Amino acid sequence: MSLFCHPVEHMIKALSIERIGGVCMFNISGSGETLLCPEIVEITEGLLRNGHYVALINNCTVTNRIQQLAAMPASYKERLFFKVSFHYRELRKRKMLMDFVINVNLLKTAGIAYSIEIVSNDCILDDLDELKEFSMRNFGALPHVLTGRDEYVAGTYPRSKTKLTHDEYNAIWASFDSDLFAYQQRDYDIPHREFCYAGVYTGTLLLSTGDFTPCPGTRKVTNFFEDLESRIRFLPMGHSCPFPNCYCGFFLHVLAGVARDYDPGVYFRQFRDRLCTDGSYWLTPSIREAFSHRCSEYHEPYAPAKEFYINLLMRKVYKGTDPSGEESAKLALIVRENLSAKGYRKAAIYGMGVMGQWLANILTTAGIEIVCGIDRRFAEIKGTVPVQSPDTPIPPVDVVIVSVYAEFTNIAPSLRTKTDAVILSITELAG
Ligand code: SF4
Repeated sequence: MSLFCHPVEHMIKALSIERIGGVCMFNISGSGETLLCPEIVEITEGLLRNGHYVALINNCTVTNRIQQLAAMPASYKERLFFKVSFHYRELRKRKMLMDFVINVNLLKTAGIAYSIEIVSNDCILDDLDELKEFSMRNFGALPHVLTGRDEYVAGTYPRSKTKLTHDEYNAIWASFDSDLFAYQQRDYDIPHREFCYAGVYTGTLLLSTGDFTPCPGTRKVTNFFEDLESRIRFLPMGHSCPFPNCYCGFFLHVLAGVARDYDPGVYFRQFRDRLCTDGSYWLTPSIREAFSHRCSEYHEPYAPAKEFYINLLMRKVYKGTDPSGEESAKLALIVRENLSAKGYRKAAIYGMGVMGQWLANILTTAGIEIVCGIDRRFAEIKGTVPVQSPDTPIPPVDVVIVSVYAEFTNIAPSLRTKTDAVILSITELAG
């Protein structure tokens, strides 16, 4: 039985460059070995055919899938990257070290970029010299080193995961001369509280359902695989990151630039590439070029009014905080200017829960007439706005605003059959 709610063809159609709004880097990781997923070659090929880049996080042991990918046209392979997890002790135990080497070399001869990586870990301390010698002999360079972390735990280096002191830990793993490790150590303890564009420049897409969140562990923003006729409504986290430390901070900040001005001049290529002893590189020219830019280079920052609106919206979602009197007045002004400019004076609100009430207060302050609320729990909801069932005909309004933004893609198609009014999400009331 397939793990996916939709056929691969449907997913690939939903992920066209036109619908997403540009070329993307899809970083595909399975919950388990990625290349064991039966549909992985079809998905990878489909995304590459669409014009995107694909990075596959895998352990480079599933030979038949690697051979299939290596047989793709050169124009596809130049946009493919393998992030290879090197499980040295496990491969040695299973006598698979040479299979691993053969597969890595197949990537190289096929023109597919790769980077070999180990996770710092006490279990392998006794084998580090052997691992280094093996890597130099077979890959022409040492693997990069990643520091594992728990985003919910603040503090310096992974103290809970190692018996080493901070100095010992640094000295041992810094011997790999990996910029990836050095940067993580420098950045490990820095909480990121900038306006975060995760949810727009980056995001986590669950291929099994199409649900999209800004970062793993954050709330659903939309669904990519529903309502294919509509554009995707992205939504950034703003200042409401729920984690004490940035999730995969180096990756998202340096590859994507989710905090636009953070560490200019640092690019992802230095965390992935290696110069080999034979003068070759792990990255291909096209992937090195892709890793030499940030998503933020291709997007304008939000206008101050939009940033303010999104920030307060996300603050309500993540912290439950209502706007102060001053903030309410400013929000109302932003929303009034936006809706009035489009000629929207009479509105209905779909979804009269917490966010619906938040919106109703702003619209009321803005002087926009709320003709009705629409909610499945209409009989239980009391307030100044009349609330009706979704099955009741919608009275004449200029706009229906969906407060339940994460479900917009399954609510909007049914609303379109009931009204000619414009249908907006609560996320798009500030331009
Ligand atoms: S974990 Fe990092 S990228 Fe994700 S929302 Fe927080 S600051 Fe943004």
